Amino acid sequence: MARKPLISGNWKMNLNHFEAIQNVQKLHYLIHKEVFDDVDVSIHPPFTDIRSIQTLVESEELEFALGAQHCHSEDTGAFTGEVSPAFLAKLNTEYVICGHSERREIFGETDEIVNAKVLAILKHAMTPILCCGETLDEREAGGTEDKVLGQIAAGLAGVSNEQIASMVIAYEPIWAIGTGKTATSEDAQTVCAAIRTKIRDMADDVTADAVRIQYGGSVKAGNAAELMSQPDIDGALVGGASLKPDFVELVRNGAG
Ligand code: PEP
Repeated sequence: MARKPLISGNWKMNLNHFEAIQNVQKLHYLIHKEVFDDVDVSIHPPFTDIRSIQTLVESEELEFALGAQHCHSEDTGAFTGEVSPAFLAKLNTEYVICGHSERREIFGETDEIVNAKVLAILKHAMTPILCCGETLDEREAGGTEDKVLGQIAAGLAGVSNEQIASMVIAYEPIWAIGTGKTATSEDAQTVCAAIRTKIRDMADDVTADAVRIQYGGSVKAGNAAELMSQPDIDGALVGGASLKPDFVELVRNGAG
């Protein structure tokens, strides 16, 4: 089954709203319109930029999808500093990253917290990008699949097959994030295929064939096409390179 690939630019805590507007305008000018026939592209700026980018994307009818980098699982309440999924939905946010390794490692997000966020994002008709991935120690100990498939099972608890089919999973080996080290396309394909098989077991063929699986971890213009040509890799979650001019070529190369 043909799955339209999704390339997502995770800006992390970079670019204020003025810089963000300029960056999105420049990117859109440089990525030719036809490219969007072959690939979806989501932009995940910091929260303070989202309203500005929403206004720009909607007023100029840009093809970019608006994304967020995370959210809380509750709609409202005494959660100082947190961001409501209901408020993100109100800004027409389409994709929300959840369970990014930086959130898990720096901010202590457990599988249970990530699962609650997945359910909350879906409740508001947005698409979760559920991240999973192993550390270098886990990989060297042969524990990659145990770790990754465990995160998938926990993250998808209580999610219906139809909802899983609409989701995006991002396989991001932690040792490859921001390090310049990328998994070989064969290794990335092996893990992404195992994720799809896990979903086939948890749900059914239709669901497994529909869910999009991204690879993330030092993706750049030079390796995007090879990674995305793998049968079970349907796009890329891109950090560092999404802030550079390289992102234009990365998107073009990824579109094939
Ligand atoms: C990320 O932030 O999800 C990521 C993959 O970062 P980078 O592309 O810089 O490795």
